Amino acid sequence: MPGINAGMLTLQDLERITDLVRKHEIPMVKVTGAQRLYFLGLSPEKRTEVMQELELPDTMPHTRNRTHYVQACPGKSWCKYGTLDTQHMARAITEMELDGPLPYKVKVGISGCRMCCCESWMRDVGLAAEKNGWRFTFGGNAAGRPRIGDLVADGLSDNEALALIKKTLNFYIKTAKFKTRSARFMERIGIDALKKGIGLS
Ligand code: SF4
Repeated sequence: MPGINAGMLTLQDLERITDLVRKHEIPMVKVTGAQRLYFLGLSPEKRTEVMQELELPDTMPHTRNRTHYVQACPGKSWCKYGTLDTQHMARAITEMELDGPLPYKVKVGISGCRMCCCESWMRDVGLAAEKNGWRFTFGGNAAGRPRIGDLVADGLSDNEALALIKKTLNFYIKTAKFKTRSARFMERIGIDALKKGIGLS
């Protein structure tokens, strides 16, 4: 499932995908909720061919000291309701290096306005643009036991939001047990303990 730049595709990207699908006779392509491409119906041999062409290793390297995926809406560059630059934030969070492996996968949703098209309230890390800056929530989940994330802070600049997300994820790394999703972690410790742990109170 190659990542595709938070779902933003140029003509060149589309041509490359079309060439790949035609050349390897990929039966179906799914755009996932995580804004990645899912090549469906490949035989093991075809899968190897496609992975070689995309220069992907046989087994994907462990990248648990980075977020699992970052989804972002078009934001202010492309949507009339957007007030902040979601794509820049998506790149910065995707490349964010943390202090160690995360306890479990961390999904990020970044929305360029309060309409929250990227379901920010339901992501481990949620960012949504408000009139006065970014609203940052932590501990959301949309799976079998859904949870709305806790409000950590709002009115944040880009740099403030990035710094606070990094602090929060490093605190989660230090404090949570292995294989504990942020939603269950927040249910256990509560927002006040998180704020204290990252120096907000
Ligand atoms: S969240 Fe707002 S800015 Fe982003 S796509 Fe939806 S309406 Fe547009």
